[in-house]
Amino acid sequence: MTTVEHLISHYREPLENFPFDLTAEWKKHHPDKKIIGCYPVYTPVEIIHAAGMLPVGVIGAGNRLEIAHADSRFQSFVCSIVKSTLELGLTDRLKFLDGIVFHSICDPARNLGSVFKRNFPDLMVEYIHFPQNMTSPHTLDYLVAEYRRLQTSYEQLSGNKITEEALRRSITLYNEQRRLLRELYAIRREAPENLSTVECYVLTRIATLLPPEEHISVLKEAIDAVRRRNEKPKDRIRVVLEGSFCEQPPIELIEGLEAAGCYILDDDFLLGWRWFREEIATDGDPMRNLANAYINHSVYSGVKHDTREPKSKHLIDKVKETGASAVLILAAKFCEPALFDYALYKRALEKAGIPHLCLEFEEKMWIFDKARTEVETFVESMLFD
Ligand code: SF4
Repeated sequence: MTTVEHLISHYREPLENFPFDLTAEWKKHHPDKKIIGCYPVYTPVEIIHAAGMLPVGVIGAGNRLEIAHADSRFQSFVCSIVKSTLELGLTDRLKFLDGIVFHSICDPARNLGSVFKRNFPDLMVEYIHFPQNMTSPHTLDYLVAEYRRLQTSYEQLSGNKITEEALRRSITLYNEQRRLLRELYAIRREAPENLSTVECYVLTRIATLLPPEEHISVLKEAIDAVRRRNEKPKDRIRVVLEGSFCEQPPIELIEGLEAAGCYILDDDFLLGWRWFREEIATDGDPMRNLANAYINHSVYSGVKHDTREPKSKHLIDKVKETGASAVLILAAKFCEPALFDYALYKRALEKAGIPHLCLEFEEKMWIFDKARTEVETFVESMLFD
C-alpha cells in the first residue's frame, strides 16, 4: 500500500537537488518528443501539450547552484530566480529544452526573456503579453490572438498541427490535474494535521516536471493515502501564506514555518499550475475557452492585472473562507510585484484586524534560524495573547 511518506521520500530529494532528472527520465523514453520550459507564473500549457510536446516548469535553481556567470548579466538588486534561471542556461543545464516561454509578469522576467534570446540562439524563446486591461471589450480577442501566435510557433517547432480536438483533450487532462490539486488543497485546509505543507508542496511541485498523465496517477495515490490518515491536531495557529507566487522558497524554509507552530491552510506556491478556480470549458472553440478562463476564471495574483476587485479583498476573503486567524506574507527579496502588494495587504489586514507577519526569503538561502525565530515569536504572541 502506498503511503504519503513513501511518495514524498521518492520525490523530495530530486526536487531539492536535480529536479530536471524527473523530466530526463521521460525524455529517455520519448527521445523524439520536444520539451518546452515554462517560466513562472502562468503558461497555457495545454497549447504546448496539444502539439505533442511536454511543458516543464523552469522555476529557478533552488539553493544548490552557485551563481558564477549570471551576475554579469543582471544588476545585483534583482530577485534570485532570474539569476539562477539564467545560470541554469549558461551552465548547459537547460540543454534538454527545445524552447522556453516567458511572460509579462515584471521587468526582470521581461529582460530575462531577451537575455535568453540573445544567449541561446538555438532555443525557441517565446514571450506572452498578457492583457493589462481585463474590462475592455477587446481583451478576449486580444488574448486569443496572442495564444494563436503561440500556436503557430509550436506547430512549427513540433511539426504537429494543433487541432481543436487535440487542444480539447489537453484541456480535459489538465482540468483533471488541477481538480486533483484543488482536492489536495481542500484536504489540507480541512485537516492540516493529515497533510503537511511540505507534502502538499512536493506533490504540487512535481506537476511542473512530470507529464500530466503520470502526475495525475501519483496524485490519486497520494490523495487515497492522505485520506487514510487520522492524525491528532497540534497546538498551532492557522494561517494563510501569501507572496510566493513566482520564486519559490526552499523546502527547508517551508518546513521551518510549520515546525515553528503554523498550520498553513492555503498558500500561493506554484500558482501557475493551479491557475483556475474551476474547470475550463471544453465545448465550442477551445482556444477561446482557454483565453476566457485566464480573464474570467483564474485566481488573483501579484502579477495578474485585474482592477475589477482589489487583491486585498481576495486575501481577506481567503482568510475568512479558510478560517485562518493570521496571514504570513512570504515574499521573495527584490520581488517588486509581491512587495507592492504587501503595501496594500498590510493596510487591509490591519483594517480587518487580522494579524500578519511579513518575511522575505531567497530561493538560494541556507540559514533558516532567523525566519524560524520570527515565526515562533509571532505564533507565541498569538497563542498566549
Ligand atoms: S520573483 Fe518577482 S520580480 Fe522576480 S521574476 Fe518573479 S515576479 Fe518578477
